[in-house]
Amino acid sequence: MKWHTLAVHAGTEPDPLTGAVMTPVYFTSTYAQEAPGRHKGYEYSRTHNPTRTALEMALAQLESAKYALAFASGLAATDAVLRLLSPGDHVLVSRDLYGGTYRIMRRVFEPWGLQFDFVDTTNVAEVEAAFRPNTRLLWIETPSNPLLHISPIAALADLAHERNAKLVVDNTFATPYLQNPLEMGADIVVHSATKYLGGHSDVVMGAVMLNDEAAYTQLRFLQNAVGAVPGPMDCFLVLRGIKTLPLRMQKHSENAQKIAEFLATHPKVAKVYYPGLLTHPQYLLAKQQMRLPGGMVSFEVKVSSPEDMQPFWKALRIFTLAESLGGVESLINHPALMTHASIPEEERLALGITPGLLRLSVGIEDADDLIEDLRAALLQL
Ligand SMILES: *Cc1c(COP(=O)(O)O)cnc(C)c1O
Repeated sequence: MKWHTLAVHAGTEPDPLTGAVMTPVYFTSTYAQEAPGRHKGYEYSRTHNPTRTALEMALAQLESAKYALAFASGLAATDAVLRLLSPGDHVLVSRDLYGGTYRIMRRVFEPWGLQFDFVDTTNVAEVEAAFRPNTRLLWIETPSNPLLHISPIAALADLAHERNAKLVVDNTFATPYLQNPLEMGADIVVHSATKYLGGHSDVVMGAVMLNDEAAYTQLRFLQNAVGAVPGPMDCFLVLRGIKTLPLRMQKHSENAQKIAEFLATHPKVAKVYYPGLLTHPQYLLAKQQMRLPGGMVSFEVKVSSPEDMQPFWKALRIFTLAESLGGVESLINHPALMTHASIPEEERLALGITPGLLRLSVGIEDADDLIEDLRAALLQL
């Protein structure tokens, strides 16, 4: 099945009971049993819910995975995957990383007994040198947040497997439409479905996709035992969002490319980070492993302190100053003060998350309007 067909039909069959074309929202916590233990496969909605089952089937198909599990948030999905490990295990992680992932690793799982090292995963030699005998997981984000670094998935999968470790890819920024890490050798894919999969900034959800049956069984156990599951309405919203994923990603990418090119020539802009620009250090790799460069653009404006940004924020009419990303509307974020504030300042600066760094989630509006909005705001600096 090709992409636009897959996105519309994945996981959704007309309802066998009524013929309803759209998956019904099963607002029920429990299910009648004919006799104790005799039921139609559903007992209690923490364990299973038909709307969630339909979504999980769709999510698996999108990543061409055998299995998918939906969680209450991207971080609940991350939590479940990290629980596959045992105290004393070591994890190598991309240095440029979603702030909440950094926080759960350092403040929840480090005290619990896992060890983490944050490395430049664009550089295979640096990753190789950081492996330890107890390294069980290599965790990457590509494109990364907020600097849009691209890490080589296939090479890192080979390296992890040589060392008896698994490769986890946080595929939130790319989405399954732009990149399928399992097909490149990754073992586990994690998504914040809050972002592009949902696509309309109206739901918080996470997902895990994988092919390994033993890991899947353990994750399914954790999903039920820990209980961070999404409700049926949220599952419906993400199912609906998925139907337009390829259309939206094409428009997000097209707009982002135009905006990145505009910013690259702007005198107030010191640097632009976008994998679709020839100046991006991993431009060729992005072309190789991604269908399109995606809808996220970061750039650095020439300011000496965050306070100098006030007139810029005031002038914006279309871009909304907000955390999160991946919705149809354009958002702008100030990583140092917002999404990445939980990373210590010294580490932030070393990463390149400077006071003038801005991150755009480019929406599906008209590119001309978006460029005009940024042009007018940049004039204030
Ligand atoms: C948002 C995000 C997460 C966390 O997902 P939530 O749904 O907010 O819990 C993880 N990784 C990336 C790359 C994200 O953007």
